[in-house]
Amino acid sequence: MQLEDIKKIGVVGAGTMGQGIAQISALAGYTVVLYDLQSSALDTAKNNIGKNLDKGIERGKVTAEEKDQALSSIAFTTDFELLKADIIIEAIVERLDVKKELFEKLENQNSDKTILASNTSSIPITRIARDLRHPERFVGMHFFNPAHIMKLVEVISGVATSDDTSKVVYELAKVLGKVPVMAKDAPGFIVNRVARNFYVEGLKVLEEGVSDVKGIDRLVEASGFKMGPFRLMDLIGVDTNFSVTTSMFNAFHQDPKFRPSRIQEQKVDAGHHGRKSGKGFYDYS
Ligand code: NAD
Repeated sequence: MQLEDIKKIGVVGAGTMGQGIAQISALAGYTVVLYDLQSSALDTAKNNIGKNLDKGIERGKVTAEEKDQALSSIAFTTDFELLKADIIIEAIVERLDVKKELFEKLENQNSDKTILASNTSSIPITRIARDLRHPERFVGMHFFNPAHIMKLVEVISGVATSDDTSKVVYELAKVLGKVPVMAKDAPGFIVNRVARNFYVEGLKVLEEGVSDVKGIDRLVEASGFKMGPFRLMDLIGVDTNFSVTTSMFNAFHQDPKFRPSRIQEQKVDAGHHGRKSGKGFYDYS
């Protein structure tokens, strides 16, 4: 597969990340299929993409024609059979078993050239690819939140990923307006590993009663960070952030420095997943 052969992009999962990936793919001129199990997620995605594009128009970055063109290039669907494309980017729940099952099904209904990519934040690419017939066409394509704004994309090669695959994905990320960085497969890759202590230590400071959520965020923001750890976890999704920490804790053989927090676990149990659910460490209702 060459970059020029990519005409159609499939995106699986229309949540926080899938929405943004579908939006930038459509704006770059690709035909997009955005699939989710839940039609309500697709409705929210369509609404959010429309709003993001309206903001783009207000800022003079997108024209009204480009907005209409982008929205009409995205097929929002719950029909799995429509997921046939030149590259399929997965952005579903952060669970190895669910991702593996998905990719095996995708491989069965796509051509021998289709590139399969995962937006996983923490699950080893090599492990997801293990039972695929063509692990050489499987790669990590890790966007950052919000995906339509953040420039960085980590392109992660698993043990079996071919150089051709990672190169095409690297070039595609550039066409999507991103700044790609090649990375080898390692738990949390680069950014999530480096950033993990930001969340984990923030939660420890909270657990120890040293300060409260607002106090910690305010101090961290005053020291120059754009967002404190709690505001950022609410943006990312408290559930998603918890899954990533848990997966890294296990990947580093229960290294206590990555120990997931009970406070965070309880937020997940309560369904307080952050902005997307209306409540997390802060209230958005
Ligand atoms: P999310 O919870 O916002 O959305 C996930 C979506 O996937 C939901 O709409 C859900 O209905 C759908 N889904 C779940 N299982 C599915 C399946 N089997 N088939 C189709 N759809 C399914 O999650 P998110 O925050 O967008 O995260 C998605 C992936 O992206 C995860 O792997 C996560 O680690 C990664 N990621 C997240 C962020 C972030 O900041 N949220 C950043 C980078 C990477």
